[in-house]
Amino acid sequence: MMDDLTLLTLSKVREGLRSAEFTSRELLEAYLARIELYEPSLHAFLYLNADRALTQADQADQRISAWRKDPTEPLPPLIGIPLAVKDVLCVKGLPCTCGSRILEGFIPPYHATAVRRLLEAGAIIIGKTNTDEFAMGSSTENSAYGATHNPWNVEHVPGGSSGGSAAAVAARFAPLALGTDTGGSVRQPAAFCGVTGLKPTYGRVSRFGLVAYGSSLDVVGAFGKSVADVAFLFGLVSGPDALDATTVDLPVPQVRLSDEPSLKGLRVGVPKEYFVSGIQNEIERSVRAAIDRFQELGAQIVEISLPHTKYALPVYYLIAPAEASANLARYDGIRYGPRNPAEAMWDIYYHTRGEKFGAEVKRRIMLGTYALSAGYYDAYYGKAQKVRTLIKRDFERAFDQVDIIAAPVAPTTAFRFGEHSNDPLAMYLEDVFTLPANLAGVPGLAIPVGFDQAGLPVGIQLMGAHFAESTLFQAAHAYQLTTSWHTLFPDQIQRA
Ligand code: GLN
Repeated sequence: MMDDLTLLTLSKVREGLRSAEFTSRELLEAYLARIELYEPSLHAFLYLNADRALTQADQADQRISAWRKDPTEPLPPLIGIPLAVKDVLCVKGLPCTCGSRILEGFIPPYHATAVRRLLEAGAIIIGKTNTDEFAMGSSTENSAYGATHNPWNVEHVPGGSSGGSAAAVAARFAPLALGTDTGGSVRQPAAFCGVTGLKPTYGRVSRFGLVAYGSSLDVVGAFGKSVADVAFLFGLVSGPDALDATTVDLPVPQVRLSDEPSLKGLRVGVPKEYFVSGIQNEIERSVRAAIDRFQELGAQIVEISLPHTKYALPVYYLIAPAEASANLARYDGIRYGPRNPAEAMWDIYYHTRGEKFGAEVKRRIMLGTYALSAGYYDAYYGKAQKVRTLIKRDFERAFDQVDIIAAPVAPTTAFRFGEHSNDPLAMYLEDVFTLPANLAGVPGLAIPVGFDQAGLPVGIQLMGAHFAESTLFQAAHAYQLTTSWHTLFPDQIQRA
């Protein structure tokens, strides 16, 4: 009997398709079978693209069999492989709601660049995944279409805002998923769901076709079963794009991961500001154990300081809402989605925005508008930008001393539904360890390193200097070569 195809890593899937061990249709059907069983209890998707995906799988299979007869032209790297896409990225012809009622019925007429590149690489989009409304949140509880549940325990959140993508990979609904990370939205749900998640350097991946939240912070990131899988996806989506002037014109390094788990010569910084009282004991224990493993593999561990870390939370929660208030001004009831009819133009705005935006989005728009208003601009937004520079300098100094920084991803493991949803500040505190990388623009990689006593995953976050993703991949891959956390998946997902 054929192994469970949904357990295979990307390289095994690529080999298996090329050697005709199984077809793209069989692979897709294996994933769809799990979706049918468990999606009712998880709600990872806002839109499932099964029919179209099956047709595309058949087309991929035809192409693969033609190639087997005449292999002169190489096959596209992701041919026949399913991909889940967070619902803030535009896919031409598929609905894009951003988890909001204000975009209900909106069908983008173009692809996001990241999506287009993966489609050109042969990927098959299996569906659009759930998100907090406009990616504002840390649990998916802010989705207007209902929350996603954590596959390890459905009474707990999957993290957010890319909770649908993280849950989809953990539940084996898809081998790969795209997410976005403005303040932790790839790394934190990756940690909560026990999968690998990458937030690339700001400017590494095009934001064209990503619905903007905080434009100076937003990055498209990736989820997968392992560092090797995520690194592969990263290589395909990255690189300059004429449609996004903030992409940086640097060649994307060909990531060649060494099969030799040696970290000799690597300097790993451990920032004391990330190991403060208040973090869950089990997180500190698992993260420290992972750091010990880096040391056993030859790395040198150095205690470092990122002294302005404590300002990241207030700085982020000024800058992100300020940018959001400007970005979300375009949802006026005229150009996109539903319109609440009224006589006067202002009434259209008032009713559409008043009725279609959720509470958290409104809170952010109000915070941001206030921070940007005349008379307050210098005191809030202007000052936040100055402190942001100090946070960025903390990282620059640290990377003179060390190659990567290792820290927890979040202060807790996946919390229960409702635990923070009535207290915005408690929810914002979940982001303390992920916000600094966005403010500084540096890359961050989350990988699983253990479980808490309740059986919920714990992640570690590795951060690197600008454009040093490959250093993160090498270190994390060496760890995964000698540990098995990333190979564990929830096998008893509760059925609804
Ligand atoms: N939780 C953070 C917020 O609510 C980060 C979200 C994100 O990265 N998109 O803004």
